[in-house]
Parts: sequence; structure tokens; C-alpha cells
Amino acid sequence: MKPSFYDLNYSDLEIVIQQNNLNHSAASVLFNWHYKKKQTAQCLDNIAQCSVVFVQNTFDFSLPEIDTVHESKNDRAVKFLFTLKDQHKVETVLIPFHNKYSICLSSQVGCAMNCSFCFTGTQGLKRHLTTSEIVGQFIQAWRWLANHRPGEQRILNIVFMGQGEPLHNFDAVKKACEIFLSQHGTSIGVQKITISTAGYMPGLKRWSEEIPGVNLALSLHSPFEEKRNELIPINKKYPLEDVLAAIDQIPLNKKQFITYEYILIKDFNDTPEDAKQLGTILTGKSAYINLIPFNSFPGSKYQRPDLDKIEQFKAVLDTFKIPTLIRSTKGDDVLAACGQLNSKN
Ligand code: SAH
Repeated sequence: MKPSFYDLNYSDLEIVIQQNNLNHSAASVLFNWHYKKKQTAQCLDNIAQCSVVFVQNTFDFSLPEIDTVHESKNDRAVKFLFTLKDQHKVETVLIPFHNKYSICLSSQVGCAMNCSFCFTGTQGLKRHLTTSEIVGQFIQAWRWLANHRPGEQRILNIVFMGQGEPLHNFDAVKKACEIFLSQHGTSIGVQKITISTAGYMPGLKRWSEEIPGVNLALSLHSPFEEKRNELIPINKKYPLEDVLAAIDQIPLNKKQFITYEYILIKDFNDTPEDAKQLGTILTGKSAYINLIPFNSFPGSKYQRPDLDKIEQFKAVLDTFKIPTLIRSTKGDDVLAACGQLNSKN
């Protein structure tokens, strides 16, 4: 089987072009054609015939196929179910804001973290996604927008908050980021990419050296070890205290901050004491808190608190002067909101 073109970052492609004695401009032409213009046909513009033949014979250009598309009637969020070559499936969500979109990408089929509040976790880990399967979600969603919402194919933010633990699949996620960032291709700004993690230490340790500048979101969910153990089992292996210390080592740009995500679960982690402790451990950090009211899914054991409880929680955090946002739920009518992704069937 041919290797996928979409598994190569720009320097990988340059090396291949060089090793095969092709004109060195072919790399930038090809990246531009496939990532900036997002063409489906083979590239014939500004490229020598021998390069065309080489590229066609050498690489596979297939992408994950769209199986089904659900469009939210409430807010125009779009959830895609993709079929991969081995028939596994993953989901991707486009989240609209002012006719532009953020894309929520999956990094694994299923997930090994087994968090008690997350639908994906109930699937277990099937396998990691390849770089081409990650990048492919983006390209296919972009093409779908071009066809179905012409003029709106602007995906300006990328968040790794779909299925999977992105830092558990570090190499493929890193290479996907390099492709997104490449100025020869999609040229997404480094501050427009956010990777969300449950606190997977081996990946956090590689962050500063290997993906500097990319935004980090930590799924915190409880400042208390015992409660966090219950929600996020890998907390037993990588305790919150160590995770926070590792994050503190990551250098930030001037205006950059770490996002701390906090799911609010009724009668579990939604009291003023929880908020106070959360504020206490985050004080002094470049922090931004995202409060996510729990989204239910078939068989889930938790509930979402009432709005006034959510607002009380935020009011406590406000006294710590930490910027806090209550994340509005998008796409929940089509099970596309946080934690509702599950592609088992
Ligand atoms: N594994 C990564 C990324 C995937 S989850 C992580 O843990 O961060 C993306 C975000 O959705 C995380 O903050 C996660 O905790 C949250 N989430 C998962 N299940 C949820 C649910 N049922 N309701 C609300 N948010 C949920």
C-alpha cells in the first residue's frame, strides 16, 4: 500500500522530493494545492510532468470518508461521522461563530482514559489515528462547507477536543499541527490551535520542546485528588499536583494563558467549597477557566446543575479575579457537544 501524502509534514515532503531529484519547488506547489486550495484532483499547475508522475505513483491521496452528517437546528453546529480505511469510525464537529468555524478534531478511535463522565471513554481505545486521518478530518469538513455552505469555508480555530486523548497519540498529533501551521499550506496561526488533555504527563513533558506556542487546555474537573481520581482515573498515575507543576514549566507568550476546563456536575463538584479550592490552586497562574455544564448521554450517571448554581460557582471564582467563562453548549441536539462523541456503531 502506498504511504499517504497527508502523513508528511513539509520537511518530510522536501526530503522525498530531494531524494528523487525532482525540482525543489514541487514541495511548496503540492502543499499549496492540497492544503491551501484543498483540491481533490491531482496537481498539474506549475509542476513538471515527471513530478506529477512520481507523486501519483508514490502517494495515496484518499481521506476519511464522510459517513453521516448531522446539522444542529439550534446553532448550525455540524457533526461528521467519518469511516476510516479499516472501517473504524470517528467523529468531528464544526462549531460556528459569526459565519466562521472552529473544528473539534478526534485524535484516537475511542479513548484509553476511561473518564467517568465521558461518552467516548465507554468505547475503550481501539487505536490511534494517523496524521493523515487527523488532517483528513479538517480537509473533508472544509470541502463539505465549500459544497454545502459556500462562502463559509473558513475554519479559523482547531481544537483537539474530540474523541481521544491527544497527548497519548503525541507523534501523530504533533505532525498534524506542523501541517496545519505550515505557511505553504493551511497556515493556521499557532495561537489558533488548542490541545486539550486529561493530564497525560508523558505528553506534557514533550510540550515545550516539540509543540511550543500551541495552546494547552487541561481538563481539571476537581481540585480535590479523591474526586478527580473518580472522574479521571489517570489522575492516580499522574496526580493533579504534578500535572500543574509540569504545566507551569511550559513557557507562554505574553498574551497566552492556559485554559482550565471544569465540568460542572450536580451535587458532585459544584459547591462553593469546590469553587474556592479551584480558585486557590489556580491563583497566580496565567489561567482562564472554562466552566462546562455536564452534557448527558445515553446511560450517563451524572446530571447538570441548575443555572443559578452554575452562576454561584462562577461568582466565587470571580472573587479570585480569574477570568471565567461558562461555555455555552453547542450542538447538543445532535449529540455533538463535549463528551457526547461516540462512534461505536
Ligand atoms: N481527552 C482530552 C480531550 C477530549 S475531551 C481531554 O480530556 O481534555 C474534551 C473536553 O470535553 C474535555 O474538557 C472533557 O473533559 C470534556 N467532556 C467530556 N465529557 C463531557 C461531558 N459529558 N460533558 C461536558 N464536557 C465533557
